[in-house]
Amino acid sequence: HPEDSRLDIALEAGGVQSIGGGKLGIIAGPCSVETREQIVEVAVAVKKAGAGFLRGGVFKPRTSPYSFQGLGFEGLDLLLEAKKASGLPIVTELMAIHQLELFDPVDIIQIGARNMQNFTLLKELGHCRKPILLKRGYACTVTELLMAAEYIMAGGNDRIILCERGIRTYDTYTRNTLDLAAIPFLKKQSHLPVIVDPSHGTGFSWMVPAMAKAAIAAGADGLIIEVHNNPEKALCDGEQSITPAAFAELMEVLRKYAAIEGKT
Ligand code: PEP
Ligand code: MN
Repeated sequence: HPEDSRLDIALEAGGVQSIGGGKLGIIAGPCSVETREQIVEVAVAVKKAGAGFLRGGVFKPRTSPYSFQGLGFEGLDLLLEAKKASGLPIVTELMAIHQLELFDPVDIIQIGARNMQNFTLLKELGHCRKPILLKRGYACTVTELLMAAEYIMAGGNDRIILCERGIRTYDTYTRNTLDLAAIPFLKKQSHLPVIVDPSHGTGFSWMVPAMAKAAIAAGADGLIIEVHNNPEKALCDGEQSITPAAFAELMEVLRKYAAIEGKT
């Protein structure tokens, strides 16, 4: 499979939004869906700035059981309202297979770092037709990431996006260590689109623009970026969330970087 795969997502209004195969896919939105006002405001703002997809978690894999766990299916309804208001296709995390029955209107299913090697889940996703955004586990090698993707493909679903989101190393100055060399490696080993998450990859909003630019310069097919309209009050990952204004500023630069890389 020598050519890069392009993943096309059909839009409700007609046309497609693509990632890979020369198409830059930018996914933006809050870590978690919190309120109707929050998700709709962010959705409309990131769309205006040029994002191609809206992210928003409704089932959140939190370290502590006492932290905000996401709004669940109620949050999914709000995300769908934001999809309608902005026209953006949506990306949200699935944590358990029973959630799949209500994921019909979800355009891309995110499988988070913590579930990257949940092989039972991966096998089930092989039987569905939905695009899968597969994030690298924080203690997994890139080869393990490729084999996790293979689990999904072995079942017949090859609509997969690989995502480097940082791994755990001995250094703790960032939340995770963003492994940018994974981009050219994965691009060489695989035809699948490769995107980068500079938000979880660093943990700090002020580092996000630098790593986003670096990822595009290194050949990434896209980015997933956390954007919140009030990062200080965010219920999850506020410290690494950029504002819609900062996102718009970043997009201006990314368009130039993408043009240099031959991506549109
Ligand atoms: C997220 O995207 O909000 C998330 C939980 O990501 P990860 O699985 O990479 O930690
Ligand atoms: Mn997050």
